[in-house]
Amino acid sequence: MKNIQMVDLKGQYDKIKESVNDGIQKCLDTTSFINGAAVKEFQQDFQEYLNIKHVIPCANGTDALQIAMMALGLKPGDEVICPAFTYVATAEVIGLLGLKPVMVDVNPKTFNIELEGIEKFITEKTKAIVPVHLYGQSADMEPIMVLAEKCNLYVVEDNAQAIGSDYTFSDGTKKKTGTIGHISCTSFFPSKNLGCYGDGGALMTNDDELAVKIRMIANHGQEKKYYHKVLGCNSRLDTIQAAILKVKLKYLDKYSAARNQMADYYDKGLGNIEGIEIPHRACNSSHVFHQYTLKIKNGRREELKQYLSEKGIPSMIYYPLPLYKQEAFQQYVENGFLLPVTESLCEEVLSLPIHTEFDAEVSDYIINEIHNFFKIR
Ligand SMILES: *Cc1c(COP(=O)(O)O)cnc(C)c1O
Repeated sequence: MKNIQMVDLKGQYDKIKESVNDGIQKCLDTTSFINGAAVKEFQQDFQEYLNIKHVIPCANGTDALQIAMMALGLKPGDEVICPAFTYVATAEVIGLLGLKPVMVDVNPKTFNIELEGIEKFITEKTKAIVPVHLYGQSADMEPIMVLAEKCNLYVVEDNAQAIGSDYTFSDGTKKKTGTIGHISCTSFFPSKNLGCYGDGGALMTNDDELAVKIRMIANHGQEKKYYHKVLGCNSRLDTIQAAILKVKLKYLDKYSAARNQMADYYDKGLGNIEGIEIPHRACNSSHVFHQYTLKIKNGRREELKQYLSEKGIPSMIYYPLPLYKQEAFQQYVENGFLLPVTESLCEEVLSLPIHTEFDAEVSDYIINEIHNFFKIR
């Protein structure tokens, strides 16, 4: 069996090589490495794709989250609700700014935060909620937006894993994830669904005032060159990365379809194994399968992971430790703080290779080896 990887970026690149190379070459020829034409062009294409008023590109997804938090003008001690089961960046930026990350539990099927879990943790100090659309599926945004409106809270979507996914409201309206909250953030890290060939990120908003603030903060707090209104940072998307993203954005929906094809194939092959739970499909969100994540029951995950690795099949655990058990986050929780769903997910989740270059032979091999594991052991 060929070398199997979690993500086949090379196979993907080979198919779009010419346009990508052209875009990069243009950037080299004009030497406009910073804020070159491609940055503005990609920004406009992306605004159109998402159907949103403002896209503000920045250096990476973590910066996007930090800039979003800065733009909301929160004060030290203010509380921001986020999932305990997510990538560290979501909560890290909250703490860095002197705000308090309040970590809440997630839905055991969708892995996303939901109304019931959030409500319990709202206090007078709560100022914002950060739903993460984990693994490629939207959190249930409608009730979260209603709650936010009622309690006067901001909603910042962490859309690093679900670009291209559609959320359906109860009246049938569809919106892209990342266009529902007051601000949303995304990452163009190479392995993300819309990835560049280095670091990149962006903020999205329909709010004109917030857009001005975000732009200013990402650019040293200046509105006019050398006149600094607020403390900001330096966070830009490189022209070369924007040129690559411009090409890849055109394929994003095709890429999502290819990921779904692979997910459907896994579903069919793995759906009848006892001891495995295949990914749940939410009824109000499409799935773009940033990850294909199984739940491995009966404490057998490590054993299966080891077995697959011996067969040359990589798998990953996103995420092995709840945020509230991370050393860096001890200051935010009382001793013994525990969220039951997050606890069990950290013990059970296992993500299989998924990407845009579906290969039935490879998928069959992976499926068969998983069957073998449960037969033999
Ligand atoms: C990747 C990711 C980020 C951070 O993005 P970077 O570009 O790596 O900084 C934030 N949140 C989530 C959920 C992510 O998956």
